[in-house]
Amino acid sequence: MSQLRDSVRSAEDLALRMPLSPELRETLERLEGTGLLPLRATPYWLSRAGSGPGDPILAQCLPSPREFEPDPRAVPDPLGEARHRAAPSLVRQYRSRALLRASGECAVHCRHCFRRTLLPSERGFLSREDQAAAAAWLAERPEIREILVSGGDPLVASDDRIGNLLSALRAARPEALLRICTRCPSTLPMRFTPGLVEILRSFRPLRVVAHFNHPRELSPQAEEALGTLVDAGIPVLSQTVLLAGINDDPDVLESLFSGLVRRGVQPYYLFQGDLAAGTAHLRCPLSRGLEIYSELRTRLSGLELPRYAVDAPGGGGKVFLPEDIVGREGDRYILRTPSGGRASYPA
Ligand code: SF4
Repeated sequence: MSQLRDSVRSAEDLALRMPLSPELRETLERLEGTGLLPLRATPYWLSRAGSGPGDPILAQCLPSPREFEPDPRAVPDPLGEARHRAAPSLVRQYRSRALLRASGECAVHCRHCFRRTLLPSERGFLSREDQAAAAAWLAERPEIREILVSGGDPLVASDDRIGNLLSALRAARPEALLRICTRCPSTLPMRFTPGLVEILRSFRPLRVVAHFNHPRELSPQAEEALGTLVDAGIPVLSQTVLLAGINDDPDVLESLFSGLVRRGVQPYYLFQGDLAAGTAHLRCPLSRGLEIYSELRTRLSGLELPRYAVDAPGGGGKVFLPEDIVGREGDRYILRTPSGGRASYPA
């Protein structure tokens, strides 16, 4: 696909599309060779950008020098995926669900990504052997009712690869719900060709869980992609990450969530940022997030309001906000985890 082939990956690529400040050029050059998440953006994504340093589209994909600053609150594996690894490429944190990391590739590298340290080393799509191994593992565990196909972004792969993977999963688990986690509706909406939509449709029951962070992402192309999925009988949900300086504003989130519902998408989660290294400058304080969510509850209908949640640092599981906050100690909130344990998150 030309959007992927023509992706912007370097200071030189970017300079062909926009003027670079000396600071941005220096940051991009410093990033190269560090092993940190490199620059990547589709021309389409950049076409949605306005101008200025605070632009919500650019701020999500352009690195900041603050990524290099030490972050004492960061944890190396924010969701504890290594701890919950059940088989190669499979993570099982809950009895009824398993997550399959099918690819390390994405159309746009989001600077807030909690897998940002893993992606640079995980480029390829899952091999046929690893697909078969994952399918065999899932076949032996009928209590797993939902299979999350994630990445990276699994829909950046070719139709053939996606079809082969879903076919293997469906053969192993004829009744399991397949949950496709993808940012393509906002970063690469032209990916939803009739061929891909037919593949997804043919493996129902299946949900597409998209990722939208700002109403600017709801372009006519994104609207068309979402409409194609909905018209094919594929329910679409959306998750959003609360991001400082990008969407930490009730007006912005009200516009985003009501806009998604108008386009047939169910807002599912509003996530408090994970404690991934290099993302502190994008993390909205939880105390501010609670204020924003409280305001959203007065403005949005039940259909428009996603659940506010955070993954307990280190792999404690999903915690709902504010209901799972059980106290505060100093500058940290104490959280009740799904297993009844305790975790903490900076205030
Ligand atoms: S698309 Fe998802 S996995 Fe890829 S960089 Fe963005 S947040 Fe991370």
